[in-house]
Amino acid sequence: MGDSYLKLVNTGLTQDLAKRLGLPRPAILRRHDPGAPLVPGPVVLLGAGEAAHHLAETMLGWGLDVRRHGAGSERIGAIVLALDSVQTPAELSVAALEAGQSLRHLLPGGRVVGVSRPASESVDPEQSAARQGIDGMLRSLGRELRGGATANGIVLARGTGADAPSAVAALRFLLSGRSAYVDGQFVRVSTGDGALPASWDAPLAGKVAVVTGAARGIGASIARTLRRDGATVVVVDVPAAGEALARVANELGGTALQLDITRPDAGTVILEHATTRHGSLDIVVHNAGITRDKLLANMDAARWDSVMAVNLESQLRMNRILLDAGLRGLRIVSLASTSGIAGNRGQTNYAASKAGVIGMVRATAPLVAAADGGINAVAPGFIETDMTARIPAATRAVARMLMPSLMQGGLPVDVAEAVAFLAADGAGGINGETLRVCGQSLVGA
Ligand code: NAD
Repeated sequence: MGDSYLKLVNTGLTQDLAKRLGLPRPAILRRHDPGAPLVPGPVVLLGAGEAAHHLAETMLGWGLDVRRHGAGSERIGAIVLALDSVQTPAELSVAALEAGQSLRHLLPGGRVVGVSRPASESVDPEQSAARQGIDGMLRSLGRELRGGATANGIVLARGTGADAPSAVAALRFLLSGRSAYVDGQFVRVSTGDGALPASWDAPLAGKVAVVTGAARGIGASIARTLRRDGATVVVVDVPAAGEALARVANELGGTALQLDITRPDAGTVILEHATTRHGSLDIVVHNAGITRDKLLANMDAARWDSVMAVNLESQLRMNRILLDAGLRGLRIVSLASTSGIAGNRGQTNYAASKAGVIGMVRATAPLVAAADGGINAVAPGFIETDMTARIPAATRAVARMLMPSLMQGGLPVDVAEAVAFLAADGAGGINGETLRVCGQSLVGA
């Protein structure tokens, strides 16, 4: 959705006109704005138990105005629900209805964050039902919110408390403007690993990050965001995109590496460049990707093979080379797609490659963890870039309207923020996961 349309239907006289005409009026999303408060108003923390205690301490430590009950008629910036001790469906009802009372006071750009335990860890039918019920409640709640507000969850594995570094980092990400287009999602924290940054403004200070496919679109935005967060960046793209790539590298004070990532030695070339030019390699973002859409009945080998080669096989090969090199603490983030989760007509090749990324990340996680690192994926939904500009205009318009509460496509920076969150040491307890950045869309790209 063009920024100009969002402004038109959200400001001044044209806002009234749009209202009267019944035009869809998607909100301008609350995105990261340096210097702006973490949340736009007081935070209502509901629920009891150990997680509630840790969450209160964490948020008070950030200087937030934390209330333990609904704040009367006052507008609020966020509702945090400590649901980790919910044992029965009846207990979930109590928590849900209490949250409901505060919802009407949520400010535009507000946040709802639930903290719970995985249903899959429970062998008690009542407890498992209640825990799984939290997923359905939060996802539906996300679809009911307006004004660019979102609802997400943090799921803490057994033995992991709400004070674990990755629980804290996830809470901050989900409350902040950095998670603007993450809606109806669950961040799974599996261990107490990870370290919080000395400064939340520069969580990647001292890190060297490589971003593939960074000459334009989402990749360029990822490079900018990692730089903003303090990293030194190496941007990689095909030689044909060399000029645009050099511009991105110059803008960010990083270096450009012209490289086709399907080359068998791409991993070695990247490692050598990063270590000789910048002294280390700490973060790799596998972002380069292509589409070659065709119905499977009309698919030829060239289309199928090129998509698999760029989107999946290159990553598998590079990961193997990087792991074999014995790098410690390496954090890898790979770009999947909601097409790889929900499927998309005309994209059997693309969806196979992106679902493949999700499988790759899950199985590679223990191998990277053995060297104190981590690997996760980000699955964008409909993001406004050159890639999606090739989708027919009518399909694009429908796709935007299928985001039930946000009613707009995301921006490259929305994906970049999720990548930056997962690339930081704060996400050390999150491994093998796929985080959707899709505004709860029903259509992938
Ligand atoms: P884009 O086409 O705008 O940019 C992709 C970049 O990758 C280009 O600069 C291209 O030159 C580069 N690239 C392609 N093949 C390469 C190779 N062999 N070696 C090195 N670089 C190569 O795409 P985008 O929309 O910015 O998408 C970025 C990533 O996000 C892709 O993996 C894509 O599949 C994924 N994604 C995008 C969307 C979306 O809505 N735009 C949705 C889901 C997933």
